[in-house]
Amino acid sequence: MSTEKNNWGEGVFDLLSWFRMDRVHDARVMVVGSGALGNEALKNLALFGIGHIYVVDFDTIEYSNLTRSILFREEDADKGYYKADVAAARVREINKNVEIHPIIGRLDAEVGLGLYRSVDVVLGCLDSQIARMQLNRQCIRAGVPWVDGGIDNLVGMARVFKKGVNCYECELSESSKIQIYNKLSCSDVARRNTEHGRVPTTPVIASIIGAVQVQEAMKLLHEGYVKDGTFTSLCGRWFNYEGSHMTTRVYKSAVWSDDCMAHEDWEPVIAVDNLGAGMTVASALQCISEKLGTSNVEINLRNTRFVDKLVTRGDNKVFNVMCPEFRVADSIDADRRLYTRLNSDINQNAFENIDSTFPYQDLTLNQVGIPYWDVLQVSTDKGMYFLEMAADRNYYDSRI
Ligand SMILES: [Zn+2]
Repeated sequence: MSTEKNNWGEGVFDLLSWFRMDRVHDARVMVVGSGALGNEALKNLALFGIGHIYVVDFDTIEYSNLTRSILFREEDADKGYYKADVAAARVREINKNVEIHPIIGRLDAEVGLGLYRSVDVVLGCLDSQIARMQLNRQCIRAGVPWVDGGIDNLVGMARVFKKGVNCYECELSESSKIQIYNKLSCSDVARRNTEHGRVPTTPVIASIIGAVQVQEAMKLLHEGYVKDGTFTSLCGRWFNYEGSHMTTRVYKSAVWSDDCMAHEDWEPVIAVDNLGAGMTVASALQCISEKLGTSNVEINLRNTRFVDKLVTRGDNKVFNVMCPEFRVADSIDADRRLYTRLNSDINQNAFENIDSTFPYQDLTLNQVGIPYWDVLQVSTDKGMYFLEMAADRNYYDSRI
């Protein structure tokens, strides 16, 4: 098989009056989650010939995924490969013109906001409300639209969210909000078991909703046709599909409340070319101080916290973990003395901010829990700043 690129879609897509080949070839799309919906969305993006795709997932392939994941094979489950890696490889088989980069990690603490800011649209192919809420917050900070999809048995829905128009968190019911905030206030350890409920899914519903998501992504890439009325975007509307009696419904719902905690303006963003997540805390603080002209700087960890030790309640035993909060669960699993303790029995000593008093100045920003190509929220005596770690600009492109 030749790896040389060809003119994918020539003589086919150019028959479509609205299809802009250059726009699609140049497009940058992030797909978060590569399960049932993610597989379908990726397949369609590949067939359309989207130029640049980033696929984010921290999970490995299990046999149960095979019934609804066109990109996965039995041997991938045998070997326990990462979903994002395999999905990327199969997308390349479908269309070698697509540059696709897998990111094995969490959508917030392991994917930098710089990458979010660089893409045209994000597809949320997720199975939990917490993950959707986190993605919504990232997308609002980055100012990038995102297309949500959800499936359950024969029922599915899709929505498009845009900063200033509508917001996932604003549209949550009060009871869902309370449920999610309660889960979020627990430590990551206690949360992990409740986060990913297994949802009954069929291959058919994943195809339908994944297809609608890509259709909406294509509209976002061809915005002029939405403005002139050729297309109607799902932004501010819900698409509901119910397969058992074949009912579909589209209804308006665009909520953007003034008091929503998700609405953050991360502007203006200052690109700092010599700042990257591979730097030590000490050198990063130095670099930021020089850039901002003040030594009074504090990096706020917004997506995770750094945990240096765990202390068991009652007997006060101390266990050094030295990792971001989202990795603490792994440390507990790996240590039999901790594994047998109840989550409520373990206290975390956690840092939410990093400044010159942080005791581990030789750790890198990444070790503390800051992803590559992130935007740092920095508090200073002169106010708040948003600094893009531009030294990492090509970090995700090197991952194939
Ligand atoms: Zn909101």
